[in-house]
Amino acid sequence: MAEQVKFFEQVNRNFDKAAAYTKHSQGLLKQIKICNSVYHVTFPLKRDDGSIETIDAWRAEHSHHKLPVKGGIRYSPNADEDEVMALAALMTYKCAIVDVPFGGAKGAIKIEKRNYSDMELERVTRRYTYELIKKNFIGPGVDVPAPDYGTGPREMSWVVDTYGAMAPAQLDSIACVTGKPITQGGVRGRTEATGRGVFFGIREACGYAEDLKPLGLTTGLEGKTVVVQGLGNVGYYAAKFLQENGAVLVGLAEYEGAIYNPKGLELEKVVKHRTEKKSILNYPGATNIAHTTEALELECDILVPAALENQITAANVDRIKARIIAEAANGPLTADANEALLKRGALIIPDMYLNAGGVTVSYFEWLKNLSHVRFGRMGKRFEENAYKKLLHTMEDLTGKKIAQEIFDQAAHGANEEDLVNSGLEETMISAYNQFREIQKQYNNKIDLRTAAFINAINKVAVSYLELGIFP
Ligand code: NAD
Repeated sequence: MAEQVKFFEQVNRNFDKAAAYTKHSQGLLKQIKICNSVYHVTFPLKRDDGSIETIDAWRAEHSHHKLPVKGGIRYSPNADEDEVMALAALMTYKCAIVDVPFGGAKGAIKIEKRNYSDMELERVTRRYTYELIKKNFIGPGVDVPAPDYGTGPREMSWVVDTYGAMAPAQLDSIACVTGKPITQGGVRGRTEATGRGVFFGIREACGYAEDLKPLGLTTGLEGKTVVVQGLGNVGYYAAKFLQENGAVLVGLAEYEGAIYNPKGLELEKVVKHRTEKKSILNYPGATNIAHTTEALELECDILVPAALENQITAANVDRIKARIIAEAANGPLTADANEALLKRGALIIPDMYLNAGGVTVSYFEWLKNLSHVRFGRMGKRFEENAYKKLLHTMEDLTGKKIAQEIFDQAAHGANEEDLVNSGLEETMISAYNQFREIQKQYNNKIDLRTAAFINAINKVAVSYLELGIFP
């Protein structure tokens, strides 16, 4: 059997492929590519039954070209140093692609979340935070974690509480982590942000007739069939927004199995069924698929892997039927699978762009924390009053009364959620068009991932070139 290429090596192969199209020196390219620092820590966890277990955890800071560095913390039994470095590298390129002024980082705690009580998870998370503080691997201007696979607002609230307790006089301490609950300094719209960004990205990719025609597809989301793997934070919200905007969810996969119905599955009902029955299987009217990976092979227009890396490999790529692969998860395709799909003419929307909605809104949360004021607080009422004056003037001039519902909609001042969602939409649309433009400059001879990498490399290179030490 062919040796499995390590995840960081896979990321670097994609980097090298794109770097060949740039004019940067080898020294500079190496500096951009390498991981600047990695911290591996082990610490004891006292389990609820009194036994002691040793926990492995990491934090990798891939690039210090901009500070703070940023990236999620994952709980995963498969975590290792290579994976954390690969994910940290993807964060560097992701931030560059969406013009978020951070370097890339990632953290991981090697545990299977399901096997630990809430109290144990809290102890692990607080201890991990404490270990990061000791080594200066966390802080508003240094390194700002966020949720990732297996973690969410609850875990981030443990992180901010631990950090705050250790830095009581630090004015900006709540900016040490993002993805927090609103009451702990979070920003409205962060929980849904990655999935919403996935939706904006897919919608944008489906907006160009000349890109979709070779796939035998027409523009727009209406009626497009979709399979989603993983109904966690990213997968659930991506599926929700896609369905709300006309796409048909024909397949949904979780770790225990998958379900298929070519006529469509109602997301909320499936989630309710899974909560009640503790399994996605046996959903009324749907066909059971025992092995979750077989769901990736279902007939559909858009496949959204939103669980973990290395899901489409040389072993199953020949059976993948989707025309569009929307990489909601990080690294769901191996490099071999990527090449095979490209040869077949599939449109691959790359992870480091498509799931960048999370870090984009995390950036907004960090800005909110540093400014100590909710977005919209200063301007909302002013905007509303200005719109009202304008609408009343129109009524006076025309002599016609505007219907109350339309009046209220038009006179709405932007609140925090409006501003966050609008900033996210703008970011996802403009980032896509930046690298699509690069693809066009090469007469479509390069794929979207390579174009996105070229864009990222050039942006990171600027920071180093300004230092004046690289030729
Ligand atoms: P999550 O823990 O909320 O959800 C992951 C889901 O996938 C869980 O429901 C899990 O049961 C399911 N799953 C696990 N193995 C599976 C399998 N083999 N088949 C089907 N389902 C499976 O995690 P998440 O935050 O949604 O992260 C998912 C992916 O998105 C990861 O690659 C993560 O790095 C990436 N990502 C997350 C964010 C974020 O803001 N949370 C941001 C960017 C990228």
